[in-house]
Amino acid sequence: SIFSSYRVSGFFSPRLNTTTEQFDTRTSTDGARLSILTAPQSRASRDNSRTTSVKDALRFALPAELPTEPYLILENKYPALRALRTDVDIGDGLWICCHCHHENILRHWKGPFPFKYLRCDHCDRQLCSECHSSEVLTPWPVGMISAPRPAPGREVRYCHVCTECGLSHRAEMAGTTLDFYGVTCAGCGTSSYGDWPRYHIGSVEPYRRDPD
Ligand SMILES: [Zn+2]
Ligand SMILES: [Zn+2]
Ligand SMILES: [Zn+2]
Repeated sequence: SIFSSYRVSGFFSPRLNTTTEQFDTRTSTDGARLSILTAPQSRASRDNSRTTSVKDALRFALPAELPTEPYLILENKYPALRALRTDVDIGDGLWICCHCHHENILRHWKGPFPFKYLRCDHCDRQLCSECHSSEVLTPWPVGMISAPRPAPGREVRYCHVCTECGLSHRAEMAGTTLDFYGVTCAGCGTSSYGDWPRYHIGSVEPYRRDPD
């Protein structure tokens, strides 16, 4: 029995070590990457170049989803609504502000900031984990760090949102592991310690078929 318990611990400990090492490597790589990016610049010029590049990324972002099929608009059950609806009005989904209950249109964009700034059009508060949203922004539980790889040539369909300014950031992924840690907000410089609300970027289809 001594032999068999030795075998059991020998079997489990290498796996535990591997997990720990992977985490450590990732953390130190992030640290190194950050110091390379920030060390040579003063704080002021760092802030300037950061906001300029974020503005450019937001201005030139392309829609990530195909436009709503015209037949979905034409075949809408309600003629009065049908007249008001275009692809731009419909967007890719809605989020309802938990403070003022305003319905905000969601639009999924290509690139690092998939929903740009998620701030309420009515009260200017940022989206939080209490706000409700359609499938394109499906809450993703803390602790779930394993997900299918994106299809070849496609972007990661997971994101998290800065709790200070509401800028949405596409998650990074290594293999099938999602990385929500050690991110500095590109908009306001706040650091995430894995505490920003996380979302799966779900399908736009159900909402587009029935936006009301
Ligand atoms: Zn609001
Ligand atoms: Zn909220
Ligand atoms: Zn921010």
